[in-house]
Parts: sequence; structure tokens; C-alpha cells
Amino acid sequence: MHLSDKYPFLINYFENGIKNPNKSIAHSILFYGNDIDAQYQLALYIARLLNCKKDKNYDCECLDCNWIRNGEHPAVLTISRKDNKPDDDDSKTVISLKQANQVKQTLLNSSDFHRVFIFCDKDENDEISGLNNLNFQEETANALLKTIEEPPQNTTFFFLTRNKDDLISTIISRSQCFFVPTFEHKNIDWTPIKDLFENYFEFERQTVFEVANNLNNLSKNSLATLEQIQSYILSLMKNNFENKQFLVKLLHDIESVEYAKRQIIAKVTPLNVFENLCIDIIK
Ligand SMILES: [Zn+2]
Repeated sequence: MHLSDKYPFLINYFENGIKNPNKSIAHSILFYGNDIDAQYQLALYIARLLNCKKDKNYDCECLDCNWIRNGEHPAVLTISRKDNKPDDDDSKTVISLKQANQVKQTLLNSSDFHRVFIFCDKDENDEISGLNNLNFQEETANALLKTIEEPPQNTTFFFLTRNKDDLISTIISRSQCFFVPTFEHKNIDWTPIKDLFENYFEFERQTVFEVANNLNNLSKNSLATLEQIQSYILSLMKNNFENKQFLVKLLHDIESVEYAKRQIIAKVTPLNVFENLCIDIIK
């Protein structure tokens, strides 16, 4: 699935910011949500928009676009515990202070490219995963704060994480944060919740507890019910890409559902989870 079909609201935002000479995008961008791989693909796509010397099309074959696609671009760097370590750095589990200093050192030289640094983690199988306060520790983050706040021209930082709370607050406060919803569940059949939940955005506020109670009674598997709700909201998003205001609400609601899923996994009482969710999304 094409990124701009998955995330048209994000892609539009960045395309407008980059292609329009009167606008610009933030120097520091934080993506959060469960699909880290999608975040990484988005960061690479934005890196291509920033560096493409041709028409910035999705399938552009210019040198910069191909380099970035193949992970070979000299100015688009992944910074993780496994990538772009200085030679004398033997740290294995963290993005190290030496790496942070190397990034700062690189920026002292001028560049013809738009420099992009994608901060993330990699697991034992070299899969992209998210930053947290163990793999990206305070000392390292703090070493970068000044640079993130006032980087040289043509420099963009990305930070990828599952959960905003996993990252040090000083990075969050200096970044523009974007929730990236997960589309892995798009094919989940949501008919089990149809009668209870369809058009929930039109429900009256006073129905909140009744709806929560009904959802809670629907099945023993609260997580499955939440996946169905998420799938339903994603289908609404796909059909309402033109309606910006509604999209913003739906995006907020998806974020609430992801939060509810984490609460269920953390063993919060399901009825409480459904109540909090309904209070948050039925207004
Ligand atoms: Zn290109």
C-alpha cells in the first residue's frame, strides 16, 4: 500500500511544507505509534522530498531518491545503537554520547544536501524499533538539545518511538509530534460492534456509560473489541480524506483506542477502559 494512501493527512502536510516556498517544516519531528516501520518509511519519504533534485514524485528515479531508497545517501543517516557509530565506540545497547557528538561534528561542515538524521532503535534481528529512555538516554539526548533547537540550515531530525512517554521530555518539547496510526489491523471485520458503535461520533454525550457498558458486555475479549473499533475508525478515515476537521477527530480517536489497548494489556479493568475511551471520543 502506497504511503500516501495510508497517511494522506501526514503526506499532504509535509508535501505542502516542503514544496511551497512560503512554508517549511519543523527541524525536529517526532513520530509516535505502534508501527515503527511505517514511521521509518515516512521519514525516508520526507528525506526524499527534501533531497530530490527532480519532480519529487513518489517513484522518482533520480540519484538522491535512489540513494535514499537503498539506504546509501551520504546525508540521510539512521542513528541507532547499530548504525553510524564512531570507530572507537564500543557501546552495544544505546545510542551513545559519542554518536551524538559525531552528529554535531558532522554539522560543523557545510553540505550540498539536506541532512536528515533518523533516530531509532534496532532489535536483534535488525528490525527498526522505537526509542525509549534505555536505548536513548538522558545524557545523549541532552547533548543534542541545542543542535535540535537551532540546527544549521537544511537539517532535519526525526525521532521514532511507540509511546511519547518513553522519550525524555526535553526532546518532546523541542519537536513537532505526529501520531502515526497503525494500519496493520485494517482488515479486521468490525461487524460485531456495528449495532453498538456505528456512527458513534453522532452519539449524545449522555449515552457514554451505556455505550461503554454494552461494549464491555459484547465479548470476553476486550482487546478484540478494541481492534474492531480501531478497524471501523480506520475505514471512516479512508472514506473521509477530504474532510479535514473530521479526520483530525478520527486521528485523535484512533490514538485513544491505542491507549485503551495498552491499558487492557496492563490489566486495567475492561469496563473502566471502555468508559474512559467513550468519555474521550463521544462528545
Ligand atoms: Zn528524486
